[in-house]
Amino acid sequence: MSWIAHKFGGTSLADADAYRAVTRIIESSGHLKQAVIVSATAGMTDGLIELVSRAGRRDSTTEELAEVLQARQVALVESLLGEAGPHDLIARIYKDFADIEDVLRASSVMGTALENAIAAVAGFGEVWSARLLTTHLSRAGMSAAMLDAREVLVVTPAETTPVVDWETSASNLGSWLAENDHDVVVITGFIASDPTGAPTTLGRNGSDYSASIFGSLLEVGELIIWTDVDGVMSADPRLVPQAQVLDDLSYDEAMELAYFGARVIHPATMTPAIRRGIPVTIRNTFNPSAPGTRIAPRSHSEMPVKGFASISDMALVNLEGTAMIGVPGISERLFGSLRQAGVSVVMISQGSSEHSICFAVPESQADAARTAVEGAFAAERQRGLLQDLEVTVGCTILAAVGDGMSGTPGIAARLFGSLVRAGVNVKAIAQGSSERNISVVIDGADAARALRAAHAGFYLSRQTLSIGLIGPGHVGGTLLDQMARRLESLVEDFGVDLRVRAIASSSSMVLDEHRIDLERWRERFGEAGAGTMPTDLDLLADYVHTESVPHAAIIDCTANADVAMRYGDWLAKGIHVITPNKKANSGPIDYYRTLQESARRADAHYFYETTVGAALPVIQTLRDLVQTGDEVHRIEGVFSGTLSYLFNSFDGSTPFSEIVRAARDKGYTEPDPREDLSGMDVARKVVILSREMGVEASLEDMVIEGLIPAGLEEGSVEDFLDRLADHDQEMLRVVEEARSSGKVLRFVGIIDPEAGCRVSLRSYDADHPFARIRLTDNIVTFQTARYSENPLVVQGPGAGPEVTAGGVFADLLRLANYLGATL
Ligand code: ADP
Ligand code: ASP
Ligand code: MG
Repeated sequence: MSWIAHKFGGTSLADADAYRAVTRIIESSGHLKQAVIVSATAGMTDGLIELVSRAGRRDSTTEELAEVLQARQVALVESLLGEAGPHDLIARIYKDFADIEDVLRASSVMGTALENAIAAVAGFGEVWSARLLTTHLSRAGMSAAMLDAREVLVVTPAETTPVVDWETSASNLGSWLAENDHDVVVITGFIASDPTGAPTTLGRNGSDYSASIFGSLLEVGELIIWTDVDGVMSADPRLVPQAQVLDDLSYDEAMELAYFGARVIHPATMTPAIRRGIPVTIRNTFNPSAPGTRIAPRSHSEMPVKGFASISDMALVNLEGTAMIGVPGISERLFGSLRQAGVSVVMISQGSSEHSICFAVPESQADAARTAVEGAFAAERQRGLLQDLEVTVGCTILAAVGDGMSGTPGIAARLFGSLVRAGVNVKAIAQGSSERNISVVIDGADAARALRAAHAGFYLSRQTLSIGLIGPGHVGGTLLDQMARRLESLVEDFGVDLRVRAIASSSSMVLDEHRIDLERWRERFGEAGAGTMPTDLDLLADYVHTESVPHAAIIDCTANADVAMRYGDWLAKGIHVITPNKKANSGPIDYYRTLQESARRADAHYFYETTVGAALPVIQTLRDLVQTGDEVHRIEGVFSGTLSYLFNSFDGSTPFSEIVRAARDKGYTEPDPREDLSGMDVARKVVILSREMGVEASLEDMVIEGLIPAGLEEGSVEDFLDRLADHDQEMLRVVEEARSSGKVLRFVGIIDPEAGCRVSLRSYDADHPFARIRLTDNIVTFQTARYSENPLVVQGPGAGPEVTAGGVFADLLRLANYLGATL
């Protein structure tokens, strides 16, 4: 009859609901013969061990803690089985605590927590779990019996993992089964007997090992380890929110991951399973429909790196000096001394110059390591051939694990590239020749960041961007809608994964660890409480700039000067900035220089194509000309969609003030049309283009001939529009004068490095390109050495949310291209 083994961890037995879930799993397993290995309820083992150590310290709170633990266990029984029935179960818990008190008293008398006292007490949690589950299964109508592992499993305690006496254990188990013929055998995990018959344990988290030992003894077809996550994940999900469940792992991979801290599985589990080739599946008690992670001799996945794990509280020890060069046996003496001192070495790295050797040990053993090594090399140190031992505490070892790493070039480069981008300093490196594991030692404070960055480096497309958008108004909102329509195909066709993780208006913002659903960002933004909070741009920048995603970008769709003043900090941190906001580039020249400098230094990109002519390729065209060595003599253009419209409409037949009023009603002007008529907006664009050409222009030293008549600068909009009519005659005179010589009026900006920059109303011949524009068109002419006889002309609609948002989107994709995408 073939068996299957299930192991349920402490989290799967934490409360009555969990027990019910466990019972359902066993009921529906479909196997006739089931071995069910159980842990203590979550936290119980910690509590029991703590009891003994308090007693050993003669701590007056020992009794109190014992009562808490007893009450917890009793409450669990009562809440699962009801208060009426299980008197015997509860009576036995009281009796067990009486026995525990005896051990505690002895420890207290001795004034120390002895190993065997701990061994006697620590395993009660498993006994209580097994009894309770057996009773619950029987009540559910199953044929179930409990097996106290101490009756059959014999192990010899060893320095690391206890060694199983297979023969004795197998024969004990055989006899027990001969007398207990049940469909379900509930077995205590974690505990065993030593060869003298005294109770012992398999070490912390040893229930996994128990499960695999019993699986092996029963020759099960499969071992399922049930826990509280859907399987082995690519990293500890509490540290790396983007971690993914792995479909399958090889034994070796699972072993390395477990050894390096993937707590979900204990490394010792693997040994008996490997010997018999038993597949081990990690599954979720609370989500039994998830298939889990299957661990077998070989993995079918093509991923070169499967997962990341870390061990904290490590010390890095460095031994350096000429005594080591070319002298055989140094390593032997070094590690021999450590072995004698009982120090376990977790990682070793030696450069081929043999001038130094460095290794990592648990921080708690750092002093012992120092004493041992200094003693072993006393003679060399005296002769000055070896320097003092360097011990760095507070380190973490981060390991990248995967069978596919061997023979795949570039894995290490990718790992280190990710760590460098996250600003993590690597103190030591080791890669075994199996190439299944690359381990790096880093500062403990960097551990979470490093894990996230390394994980992102392998699990996310290299063109994954964490994006924050500020100003979801006309342009920003349209951009989000445009992005929503393109997200999927950008990922599928080009590997460009745009994750908008923050959206902020002037008053509130929404943050999302993964991504804000752009199909319904408006609802999300409108829902009070659904993750919205008062806007805090520092918080937003830190949030967007996460190590979990390879790149971060902030898109500023406001016209706000305060927001623009933050670009410098953002760029300096390595956050890319994209904006249609003209304030930064037309502000103080020093700030403009700082921006360029910060971007260069931090390798961050700064895109602002839409600050001039919306999506029209004005800045890119200018940049191409300058960078390829053309000489730009003059740029002249209609840079304001509003002013373009006003003068394309104004031929004298309708008074100018009425045209302004009508344009305002259609929404073609700012709410206060003076903002357009002042010419400031055009002046800012002129400054931006001048600077792009390397001319240090600023708003202060430019001639701006605006269209607001003197005396009308202040006052309400209505008042302004009324009084503008007083000047209609003047405007009529100007337009008629132009017309009489066959010309038209255009409000333009001129960038001329020789003659200076200016903004003014000018007249142009009827066959000039400026005379032929329509509606809100922008038009820009470039006169250069190459384009001398006939200028280069860029023309088209240069305003409006759709085209501006499209231009910002294009900048975003340009950024993705710079980051390596091939769009
Ligand atoms: P149990 O009580 O079932 O033995 P543990 O708490 O010992 O459960 O182990 C499960 C926990 O291990 C998960 O809840 C998770 O937080 C943690 N963990 C650490 N690394 C990983 C990983 N790589 N994959 C899955 N879980 C992990
Ligand atoms: N209960 C034991 C411990 O907490 C064994 C286990 O849960 O695996 O270490
Ligand atoms: Mg565990």
